[in-house]
Amino acid sequence: MARARRLSTKSVNDMAKVNGNLGNLQNTRNIGFIAHIDAGKTTVTERALYFTRRIHRIGGVDEGTTTTDWMAQERERGITITAAATNCSWNGHDINIIDTPGHVDFTAEVERSLRVLDGSVVVFDAVAGVQPQSETVWRQADRYNVPRICFINKMDKTGANFFGALDSIVHRLDANPVAIQMPIGDEDEFQGVIDLVEGKSFVYEKRASGDKNSPPKPPKIGPVPEEMMEDFLNRRAELVEKVAETDDALLEKYLEDEPISCGEIKGALRKATLDCKIAPSLCGTALRHVGITPLLDAVCDYLPSPLDVPAVEGKAYRDGKPVFRHPSDPDAPFTALAFKTVTDPYIGRLVYLRVYSGGSASGVRVFNSTKGRREQLGRLVLMHADKREDVAQVRAGQIVAAVGLKSTATGDTICASRDDAVILETISFATPVVSVAIEPKSRIDQDKLSEALIRMSDEDPTFKVAYDSETAQTVISGMGELHLEIVTDRIKRESKVDANVGKPKVAYRETVTARARAEGRFVRQSGGHGQYGHVWMDIEPLERGSGVQFESKIVGGAIPAEFIPAVESGAREALKSGPASSSPVVDVKLTLVDGSYHEVDSSAVSFQVAGSIAAKALVERGKPIVLEPVMKVEVVTPGDFLGDVLGDLNRRRARIGNIVGQGSIQTVYAQTPLAESFGYAGDLRSLTQGRATQNMEFDNYAPVSKDLVEL
Ligand code: GDP
Repeated sequence: MARARRLSTKSVNDMAKVNGNLGNLQNTRNIGFIAHIDAGKTTVTERALYFTRRIHRIGGVDEGTTTTDWMAQERERGITITAAATNCSWNGHDINIIDTPGHVDFTAEVERSLRVLDGSVVVFDAVAGVQPQSETVWRQADRYNVPRICFINKMDKTGANFFGALDSIVHRLDANPVAIQMPIGDEDEFQGVIDLVEGKSFVYEKRASGDKNSPPKPPKIGPVPEEMMEDFLNRRAELVEKVAETDDALLEKYLEDEPISCGEIKGALRKATLDCKIAPSLCGTALRHVGITPLLDAVCDYLPSPLDVPAVEGKAYRDGKPVFRHPSDPDAPFTALAFKTVTDPYIGRLVYLRVYSGGSASGVRVFNSTKGRREQLGRLVLMHADKREDVAQVRAGQIVAAVGLKSTATGDTICASRDDAVILETISFATPVVSVAIEPKSRIDQDKLSEALIRMSDEDPTFKVAYDSETAQTVISGMGELHLEIVTDRIKRESKVDANVGKPKVAYRETVTARARAEGRFVRQSGGHGQYGHVWMDIEPLERGSGVQFESKIVGGAIPAEFIPAVESGAREALKSGPASSSPVVDVKLTLVDGSYHEVDSSAVSFQVAGSIAAKALVERGKPIVLEPVMKVEVVTPGDFLGDVLGDLNRRRARIGNIVGQGSIQTVYAQTPLAESFGYAGDLRSLTQGRATQNMEFDNYAPVSKDLVEL
């Protein structure tokens, strides 16, 4: 059996090789566009697809016709919710683009995309520069060491300032953006860019302001205009100096005043970008098609290929030892990470895979090492927003969607076979903080609704469904009000179930603030077979986010080892409902320190009950408190409304942090309990005549102040 499986792995890899499809990985780019909402990420993606001839008609966000924002709600709301993978070719390169959402309620999507991307383009608004959400995504990209290019979009807008935006990246993100272009003209007169490396100008035809979507003409490429020469030379010197700082050989030449070629600058710039020391920065206006093709060139020139990124580390399925997988290894077996699942109305469940090593053909058996199960890989499809193209095989470095993987969930590893299987680190997601009850408007829709909810929770790891037996209600939970609104909206549309949704409820938690010791005795010895379970346990508070930990310090057989798991399970069960608010108790450590047993009467059940009694007593004695989710809020408002905004935040029990002014615009950073945040988007709109914007994101769990604890 083992031999047969080995053969089949090899044959799959061979098949991919024979077909010449390990391909030119050097020329593959797996990238994402990340940004603050409204910076123009969707428009940039759309234009990139247009110029790479992936699509033949220009879509527009404002008309709701873009390719990547394909779900109806996205089109209506003009925001990108689901990371749609799409692929295109440019200059002999295969570019896989993962579209990522800009709204904070969907950070899970950004998080999972960053995990499987090799490089990203961060889109900024040329007027606003760094905005709250650009900061969040930038930090996420830092965490995953993703090399970046900055694209300063909306150069046509009044107040646009390329170098000003770069300054805000330096100061607010502590980053090193290096201009590789300079703009020609400003605001409405913005006509194109000068490439500082090659010394060429790209001048675009001026488009009428109402003409957003007619086919663009290619730019006129020429020399640097005479009147801009001095400025160009200064900017180019700055670029060369910054690049030289990252490369010793180049620095020497620079200091010796020796000529440095374009090739040398590009080579050093590429290396510095891959090492995350520099973010090459470009500008343009996606809406008017300016600067998109130079951006595509830069993606090919400076962002990494799958071969440039370090090998992924996993654990061998057999013995847990560390294993590294890299696409350059021709003998490495097929290893892929499932990073997204969606249910497609036409072909059913699709699992998006990033392949880290080896290759596979469609229709073969594979092994899900996370679940320890064999699976059938059905069709393999390259995704192009909501369209797809069947492929016969997939190779290292690619991103594809697979049909037929029934038990594979987001974060699972798929391998060629059990023998050489490896388990890659799974993708971790935050636990939901807000829930609402949901019920179908008519009883006959109950099954349809349950089905839709299960499907939705399969697709979205931060969306959960539970049945509350006390209230006999189905309860759905997610990361924020908008998140749940969008999920219920999708259910209504896609499954045609009309549902009533209750008021949002906060997911409270409890914890202890002091160490304590307690006893749990469960002894029944009145006739017949008795019960005997007896434990002593300690409790202590842990850091936020630690969950519940359990340790047994039983030595010398005070409690037989076989009963200890029962003590743990009884205790954990008891912690699901704390004394103060019936919420789960978290961030505590339980230690089983002592106990006793009876030769005849002790059983797993009696120790389970004893564990539960002890855990309840421990929480009571450990000075319990209630914790509530706190949201981080960033409000950008015209100064005139600052007083009203602050007053309203105070009423919401918010803690105001920094208030940063830039011109007449003020940005307020605050934290507010989730319970007080419901309806904030709407309230802020009416308070400021729609002129303020806000971002809200789950931040942490914090104690509820005493006078409010009556839950
Ligand atoms: P996303 O939220 O980052 O995906 O941003 P969108 O692509 O949806 O764009 C947000 C808004 O900005 C839309 O109204 C676009 O038409 C507009 N927009 C995008 N690019 C530009 C640009 O280059 N110039 C101007 N003036 N508006 C733009």
